[in-house]
Amino acid sequence: METETPMRRQYLEIKRRHPHALLLFRLGDFYEAFDEDAKLVARELDIVLTSRPVGKGTRVPLAGIPHHALDSYLARLVAKGHKVAICEQVEGLSKGKNLMERRVMRVVTPGTVTEPDLLEQGSNNFLAAVALNKGNAGLAHVDVSTGEFGCAELPVEALPLELERLRPAELLLPPDVPLPDGLPTAVTRLQEEAAPSSQCHQVLLDHFQAVTLAGLGLEGLDSAASASGAILVYLAENGPSVLPFITRLTVYSPDDHMVLDGITVRNLEIFLPLQKEGRSLLATIDLTKTAMGSRLLRRWLGQPLLDVSEIKERQDRIQLFVDSAVLRSRVIALLAKIPDLERLLGRVGTGVAGPRELVSLGRGLSQVAELRAALDPSTTASTEGGDPALLPRFPACDEAMTLIRAALADDPGASIQEGGVIRLGFSADLDRLRSAASDANNFLVELERGERERIGVKSIKVGHNKVFGYYIEVSKSNLEMVPSRYRRLQTLVGAERFTIPELQEHERKILQVREQQLEREQDLFRQVCAQVAALGQGILEAAAAVAQIDVYAALAEVATRYRYVRPEVHEGTGLEISDGRHPVVEQSLDGRSFVPNDALLSCDDSQIVVLTGPNMAGKSTYLRQVALAVLLAQIGSFVPAASARIGIVDRIFTRIGALDDIAAGRSTFLVEMLETAAILHGATPRSLLLFDEVGRGTSTYDGIAIARAVIEFIHNRPDLLSKTLFATHYHELVELADSLPRVCNFNVAVTEEGGRVVFLHRILPGGADRSYGVHVAHLAGMPKPVIQRAHELLEELEARGKALSSPEGHDDVQKVDHQMLLFAAREELLEELSSLDPDSLTPLGALTTLYDLRERAKRQMSP
Ligand code: ATP
Repeated sequence: METETPMRRQYLEIKRRHPHALLLFRLGDFYEAFDEDAKLVARELDIVLTSRPVGKGTRVPLAGIPHHALDSYLARLVAKGHKVAICEQVEGLSKGKNLMERRVMRVVTPGTVTEPDLLEQGSNNFLAAVALNKGNAGLAHVDVSTGEFGCAELPVEALPLELERLRPAELLLPPDVPLPDGLPTAVTRLQEEAAPSSQCHQVLLDHFQAVTLAGLGLEGLDSAASASGAILVYLAENGPSVLPFITRLTVYSPDDHMVLDGITVRNLEIFLPLQKEGRSLLATIDLTKTAMGSRLLRRWLGQPLLDVSEIKERQDRIQLFVDSAVLRSRVIALLAKIPDLERLLGRVGTGVAGPRELVSLGRGLSQVAELRAALDPSTTASTEGGDPALLPRFPACDEAMTLIRAALADDPGASIQEGGVIRLGFSADLDRLRSAASDANNFLVELERGERERIGVKSIKVGHNKVFGYYIEVSKSNLEMVPSRYRRLQTLVGAERFTIPELQEHERKILQVREQQLEREQDLFRQVCAQVAALGQGILEAAAAVAQIDVYAALAEVATRYRYVRPEVHEGTGLEISDGRHPVVEQSLDGRSFVPNDALLSCDDSQIVVLTGPNMAGKSTYLRQVALAVLLAQIGSFVPAASARIGIVDRIFTRIGALDDIAAGRSTFLVEMLETAAILHGATPRSLLLFDEVGRGTSTYDGIAIARAVIEFIHNRPDLLSKTLFATHYHELVELADSLPRVCNFNVAVTEEGGRVVFLHRILPGGADRSYGVHVAHLAGMPKPVIQRAHELLEELEARGKALSSPEGHDDVQKVDHQMLLFAAREELLEELSSLDPDSLTPLGALTTLYDLRERAKRQMSP
């Protein structure tokens, strides 16, 4: 121990306090990582691992990064999910030691970053925390880059769904809570003893200067309060400078929104396309101009509304911009110049903003003022369209704007270290220091003139370089004229450089003035930042309103550009869409026009639509377009249709046969059944269910049996009654409409031209009566002989089918008997399947039953 250097002891002491973070330790111009941290840093950043002596005969691993490159390396470490503690050298020596004082100034974690390079513009970067209490879960989330802070209390089972929606970059979990499945999140385990829930509550109350939880709208919501407090405790430890920026807590309830589980979000391609070359719904309708608007639209898409009047309010605001093209284009042009006010303010408030960011915030605020004027109902003539008074109002941020404009130079450098940041005339002190510095320049000119005269050499000049500072240069030919008070500094080829006491004195003074000037500028800059941050509440309110206006204008632009209509949203359960289109597919047809289709669903008569048709005809597109119309309608948007009446949907469920299940090595069939079971459990009469090719993952008989049982279940359970679209290529399912009154058959029209199938993409009443599989194989480029042979086989099979069902076929009685037996056994199987009560089965029991049913189905299929 004694042999360790003092620096090593200092390092170990600091590292002990940050055991879970990578420690970057400032040593001169480098941030150094030691020991295991060094190995990790070298590996992750692909930099050289060396070693350093830390005492007699001991060396430890070392990896260093230059201080000016910290941001980019930090970005890479955090993106890989690491927590990084940044230890800076602070002025002064460590007590009693000949050692720089060092302190961890911030810990950067995936959930607490504010560096613009690390953040995606159009989406939030959330830090979330979970707390459990008496069977209830509390979930809080914060985006420290925008100040958004929210919490909710929910049943424990609902937690994974809500986490999936938030997709936090980092999740704080108490020690006893198991890790939620499949969340690509950095998880930080909280130590219970470090922040018990009572302390969390107190921290929360103190932060908002509230006396009781009720004052924060959290009465009786203990878990939500604990989770929110846990976030504040964590921020206080890791990024204390962001705390003042968090000024409001929104308490929400997941029940206020339509439920969209991860499977549905993926299947409907809301945020991400399923195929790389595809396009998401968000990408198609995101015509917002600001990062704030883009984030808001994303949030709206993840949380469609259930309240008709709230939806109508959004529709009215969009309508305003639809009706007035003049107002819309003026507002859109103004929005395009508004920077990310929320994140800029966040950086200003936490003291990490540079001069250019502050100037950009100031300019942004003047754009906001212009927008405010453009929307002022007293000056905007209502003849231009609707009434702008409908739009959210927001405060003028004149004070902050004027302050920034008065204080900052027009075009300052990126770093405050460069100086020249504060505008001339803003501070008398600073201006005095500045003129002292320029006086100093005059002094040099004077000194040069004086010396020339004194020693009688015209060619001497006063200059400056980094190594020697100020000097007087005399050429070799004049060296004999140099007086003895000149002290030699440097010898060049044709000249020598000297200094004199006056010049040294001047140098000292000039450096002092420059330093004072820089210090004063930094002080002033910090003061201005603090003043602007103190006005942050108003700026955040304005930013929130700008985000909304941006989304309204963008959705109006979408509606106009792509011909969407305002749907009538109502409290009923019916759904009528005429000439509906798929918002994304219609944009991707390269000039071909999209064939619009109607949809009519209601709990009373057309509850379940069985949609048959060959592959590639457009079944999936149709299913998704109905769901997307509902989704768009419930975020308040207009929809791609000629007209639409939409009863509020509480949840969209989807079961769509996906290729990635197979890629993930899971049995598609099992996945399919698990997902189907979840749907049958969770659906209500207000839900919309989409099934695309259920049963495809198994043999035909299994598939038909299961598909049929599912339809019967949805139809017959009085507590379900959910509106359902069921796409299938099993034509056998068409028969269901005969026995189940609320099942309707539709098919996707196809026609044949010259032996080739042509897809019309039109949805017509009635079931499809034959498979066009062979034709599709043709389209897919199968070799001709294969297609020919398939045609022969198809004809043969069809002929055999006819023989069996026609009276002339009776000579083959044995075959028919066998067929009857098979049919009876199948009916038995079906009956057993439909009388199954999944609720009463354990997961293992369910699996065993499934295997048993499958075995019996297989036996029937073998000759
Ligand atoms: P599969 O059963 O193989 O999934 P499908 O019947 O579900 O096929 P879709 O994937 O919906 O077929 O559609 C196939 C293609 O047909 C789409 O990619 C699209 O290009 C085109 N299409 C679908 N519907 C329409 C439409 N209404 N108007 C124009 N083109 C359409």
